[in-house]
This record gives sequence, C-alpha cells and structure tokens, in this order.
Amino acid sequence: GIDGGERGLNAFLHVNAEEALAVAAEVDEIRAAGGAEAEALHPLAGVPIAIKDLIVTVGQPTTAASKMLEGWMSPYDATVIEKIRAARMPMLGKTNLDEFAMGSSTEHSAYGITRNPWDLGRIPGGSGGGSAAAVAGFEAPLALGTDTGGSIRQPGAVTGTVGVKPTYGGVSRYGAIAMASSLDQIGPVTRTVLDAAYLHELIGGHDPKDSTSLNEPVPALVEAAKQGLTGDLSGVRVGIVKELTGEGYQAGVQERFNESVEVLRAAGAEIVEVSCPNFKYALGAYYLIMPSEVSSNLAKFDGVRYGQRVLPEEGPLTIERVMGATRAAGFGDEVKRRIILGTYALSAGYYDAYYGSAQKVRTLIQRDFDAAFEQADVLISPTSPNVAFEFGAKSDDPLAMYLNDVATIPANMAGIPGISVPGGLSEGLPVGIQFLAPAREDARLYRVGAALE
Ligand code: GLN
Repeated sequence: GIDGGERGLNAFLHVNAEEALAVAAEVDEIRAAGGAEAEALHPLAGVPIAIKDLIVTVGQPTTAASKMLEGWMSPYDATVIEKIRAARMPMLGKTNLDEFAMGSSTEHSAYGITRNPWDLGRIPGGSGGGSAAAVAGFEAPLALGTDTGGSIRQPGAVTGTVGVKPTYGGVSRYGAIAMASSLDQIGPVTRTVLDAAYLHELIGGHDPKDSTSLNEPVPALVEAAKQGLTGDLSGVRVGIVKELTGEGYQAGVQERFNESVEVLRAAGAEIVEVSCPNFKYALGAYYLIMPSEVSSNLAKFDGVRYGQRVLPEEGPLTIERVMGATRAAGFGDEVKRRIILGTYALSAGYYDAYYGSAQKVRTLIQRDFDAAFEQADVLISPTSPNVAFEFGAKSDDPLAMYLNDVATIPANMAGIPGISVPGGLSEGLPVGIQFLAPAREDARLYRVGAALE
C-alpha cells in the first residue's frame, strides 16, 4: 500500500486515496466507453503521481514540511496541478521534503525523516527526498519535485531514479511555494527518461501567471527520448567538466562515472574535456544568493499575512512580538539559519561585498557555460559527490551538507536544464550521472539520458 507499510519510508505527508481512486475510476469508464473521449485521453491519463508538498493543491493540505503551514489548505491549484488534473492523472498525495526545500537529506522536515528504499538507514537525498523515495520504493510511478540547487537531481541520484530540472522558465512556478525565485524550477521525478519526457511535456509551456515563464512551445522531449533509446549518439559532443570530477568525489562514484563516459563513447558520442574555472566559486555564491532570496520570500510567514499565528507566552501583544513568537515556533533551525544569513547579506554596508559579489560570480558561471557549450552539446558530471549517506552523518555540520550540492548548483545559477540518470551502483547504492544542456535545449538531455539509461 501507499506509504510503505512496515518499511515506513515516510515518503508521504498526506495520502489522497479517495480522490485518486475516483479519478482512476473515471479514466476506466472513459476507456471502457470508447469513442472520441477515450481517444482524446492524454497518454498519462490514469497514471498516478505524487506531488512534493511545496506545490499547492486544492483539497489536500500543503505544509512545505513546516510547522508554519501545518493544516493549511490552498484555495487554488498550482499551474502544474491544473495540467495534471486536465490529463486525468490520479494524485496519490503530497511528499515529504526538507522544510521549505532547504536541505539535501530530508532530515530537516518538521514531520520526520524519509528513508531511502535502498537502505533504510540512509537518506533519500533532499530536499525532495519524499518524491524520490516514493518513486524508488514503487509507491508512485511518477512524482513532481522542485529544484533550486539540486533538490530534484540529487535525490534522483541517491535513489536510482531519474530527476529533471527544466530550463528556468520552461515550467510555470505559479503555485510552487517560493524558496529562491531566481533559481527555483518544478520538474519530473520518474523511473525512466521516457516517463520524464512525457511528464515534462505535460507540465511545461507558457503561463501568464508566472512572469518568468518562457513564451515558447515545449520542445519535443518524448521524440528526443525515443531517439536516445535507439542507442545511437553519433554526432553528439559530450563534455566532461574537469572541475566536477576527481578530488572530492567518492572513488565508487568516480568509477561509475568513468564507465558511463565509455558507454557514451561506444554509442558514438565524441568525448571532450571542458574547463569551467569559476565553478569553484559557485557554492559560495549560491549560499549567499539563495538565502538572500529566502529571507525576502519567507518574510510573509509572520502569523499576520501567512502562517500559523503563535502568541508570546507573556508580555505585551505587540505586532513585532507576535511575529517573533510565530517565527520562533513555526520555523526549524535550518530555515532560521538561512533567513538570518540572507538578512545579513542584504543589509546596508554588506550588500556590495556579499550579494553584489555573488551576483558577479553568477555572471562568470554563465560565461563558463557559454564557453563550454561552444565545445560540447551537453556536459556530463556525477550528480552528487557521494552515494546516500547515513542519517545524522552531516546534520550537525551545515557546511558538509552544503558541499553535497557542488555539482548541481551551477545549472540553477545559469538557468540551464539538467538531468540525473541512474549510472549503476557503488557498494550496493545508486550513483547518479548528470547531464547539462544550454537553456531551451532540454531535448538534448532526454536524448543522451535515454541512451545511457
Ligand atoms: N540542497 C540545496 C539547498 O539546501 C538545494 C535545495 C533545493 O534545490 N531546493 O539549498
């Protein structure tokens, strides 16, 4: 059954069984009746999907895995949810995550950890560990995640699933609770690259409700995945990013990576090496830009405009004191850490030194990508420097946790698309291989991803 029974994955925060069964029954009826309506069904009609609990849904609670939003029901659907309803896909429920999507292990949820189905003593990645564990653990065939610095791709990597971060603007962010708006994207978490292509084509496309949405048709992703499945990559130049291999990457991860490169070479791809010298600053810049945006986006959760109101235990009921009590009780440590960091980085006197410099680094990273994509059609790296680690291994050391994101962050900084596909096992645990492509060229990821799979 959903949510693990004895395994207790805790992948789901909410199970939406009644509605899901009703939608599935409707699809069965339409199919049984045949005719035009049956023919018009979307290819994913009747295929169940799990939704990361950062995406708002009518009729199901949305918590962002925070006490701040406990029991909150959105009065509207995210645009991606409207599309899922229109395709008649049963929604199985809402999946666990690090609070407000801040983390790499799903240990920062206010509602308990999610376990990795490959080893119940290990993390399923984060922030979208619930979606990845649900798909890897056969509790859902498809899921949605959000990726601000790797939260779709890294959970995909450590659970042996496929995760895609689309081009920034390719999928509407309307109804995804904002973490860092210039970096956030919604995307698919699936078992195969072809599944991801179908889901990505469904949820992608222009949305006037998202001012950063690209006003362009969705690329032909299913076609690209099918082309990749032929196993022929002749004419495709694959660039190994020198800065995203070697030192800092576990030996087993590096071995699977090297083998994957040989698989691509055997499929006819031309392998080149590219250098992105500014990537060494990416993590530092991300951990200034992201918290700066976090501090702004989360300001509305003050118990007055949004969020569970908590009153101070004693003393006068001034608005500042109510906000203070609300935030003290409603936010976990990691969220508070980032709000404080972001507020500091944006404060007068420090703005140029921190936020301003980080934005300059962002431009340098974009230029590194521009140069790399002159030499290669897609870039390749391990998705994560390590396989799934044990619970507690990094929870007391935020910097060690942040280092997990070293290979995924550059794509968000440049707005380009990325995919993580399973690349075999190291000591019985999945290793993920990441491909990156220029903005709007998501189709290339599906071709190479399907060829490697
Ligand atoms: N692990 C990254 C972080 O903690 C990524 C988060 C995300 O993509 N939502 O910020």
